[in-house]
Amino acid sequence: MLDDKEVERLEVEAVNSAKTRQPLYSARKKVFPKRASGRFRQFKWLIMLVTLGIYYLTPWIRWDRGPYAPDQAVLLDIANRRFYFFFIEIWPQEFFYVAGLLVMAGIGLFLITSTVGRAWCGYTCPQTVWVDLFLVVERGIEGDRNARIKLDSAPWSFDKLSKRVAKHLVWLVIAVATGGAWIFYFADAPTLLGQLVTGQAAAVAYITVAVLTATTYVFGGLMREQVCTYMCPWPRIQAAMLDENSLTVTYNDWRGEPRSRHAKKAAAEGLSVGDCVDCNACVAVCPMGIDIRDGQQLECITCALCIDACDSVMDKIGKERGLISYATLADYQSNMAIATDPATGKIEPKRVHDQNGKLSDKIAHFRLGRIFRARTFVYAGAWSLVGVALLVALLSRDRLEINVLHDRNPQFVRLADGSIRNGYTVKLLNMIPEPRTVTLSLDGLPEAVMSVVGVDQPESRSVTVEAEPDKLKTIRVYVRQPQANLAEGQSFKFIVEDKGSSEKDAYVAKFNVPEAAK
Ligand code: SF4
Ligand code: SF4
Repeated sequence: MLDDKEVERLEVEAVNSAKTRQPLYSARKKVFPKRASGRFRQFKWLIMLVTLGIYYLTPWIRWDRGPYAPDQAVLLDIANRRFYFFFIEIWPQEFFYVAGLLVMAGIGLFLITSTVGRAWCGYTCPQTVWVDLFLVVERGIEGDRNARIKLDSAPWSFDKLSKRVAKHLVWLVIAVATGGAWIFYFADAPTLLGQLVTGQAAAVAYITVAVLTATTYVFGGLMREQVCTYMCPWPRIQAAMLDENSLTVTYNDWRGEPRSRHAKKAAAEGLSVGDCVDCNACVAVCPMGIDIRDGQQLECITCALCIDACDSVMDKIGKERGLISYATLADYQSNMAIATDPATGKIEPKRVHDQNGKLSDKIAHFRLGRIFRARTFVYAGAWSLVGVALLVALLSRDRLEINVLHDRNPQFVRLADGSIRNGYTVKLLNMIPEPRTVTLSLDGLPEAVMSVVGVDQPESRSVTVEAEPDKLKTIRVYVRQPQANLAEGQSFKFIVEDKGSSEKDAYVAKFNVPEAAK
């Protein structure tokens, strides 16, 4: 066990805390987060790798859909109004699937926040991930916290200039790659890359890359924590989703206070001291520039780096980990009630420790069962319901559809033999990336026959039509009825059928007749 004198004390101030926050419009105090190490930092590295990998690599994954459809696994084909996601192809009229996924994402965020607090902010939010990436670059070029502070306050020199230029250049490369990766989701990635570098891409592609490069560079490199503190609405909304059983990063002052830099000396003098040795390691690693010991704050993104920092201090001084930990408000309050002396109203660390200096058995710790409560069941139930409904709709959706528009002018034509003819515009949707031969037939109007403009087939009750792959085919159809069968308000069905796959769709249409014939 190390003496608490041997714990490195950092001269650091929480520049973004509620206590010391600057009024609006005053210059930002820079935050120089120190590199953290520990289990949460490892977990964050992993999440960063996965999320960045997904973002940058997904447009390059190929997916064979045959010769009539693009082979990019994920593609938002705006020009042809299609959304391809691996084996799923979404047409514009099926956009409700995307809406459903957004609803699921919203409910999922509610579920995650009500259980593990702002985990989204701390681990997977693009702002967090890119700031982390930019900080890796900054540390690699300028060094860790102390070196960066020194460099920042040093007068301009060749060394400072070259480091700053190198840092901003790498940031810009990342920003361009980020903006570039985004547009690859909207066109065939290899083709678009070739067009981009040879100057043949559309102006909108260059503008989009430029805008996203600028926002990535400014938000991730320059503004950093200010985006979360001042621009993002999520910290304001999330408070409504937390309850006393939600996990949040908590400074357990019931065991940490009264803090002391000279705990042994204070203890020898009979003073009551908590576990916090006031080393400021938790403040130094905080990317938001706050001091978690000030309590729950809007600025805290629950990245848990302060937990790693404090755990390593606790390891050094031989105390149990968890002075800063993920904890629920319910557990915190129960532990606080144990720690508080009812007579003085002050925290008495000995009330939460046993004779060996270990934490007492009375102390409440988080139990996994707390996650399963009515609220989380409701969120999980709603999330699953939407998911199942989407899945059922997806698996049972039609890939062959028919829509019909009855001619309004003229509504009918009387032919030389006295029969009546109605004209229709029939739209056949072949929603698979393969050509197919479909049969269009009449159901109803027993004596009626039809003909298709441009199709060389004799009048009959059924015609075959070639439907192009993944296309909407529009044909003109004339339906003719002999005079003897004319009656008022006759309705019938157009039926389209792919005999090969047994797919079928129908449309109920009306046959108009002249007044005299009714
Ligand atoms: S206080 Fe801790 S959890 Fe909150 S942002 Fe800072 S380091 Fe992350
Ligand atoms: S909470 Fe932990 S890391 Fe923060 S000052 Fe106290 S001992 Fe140091």
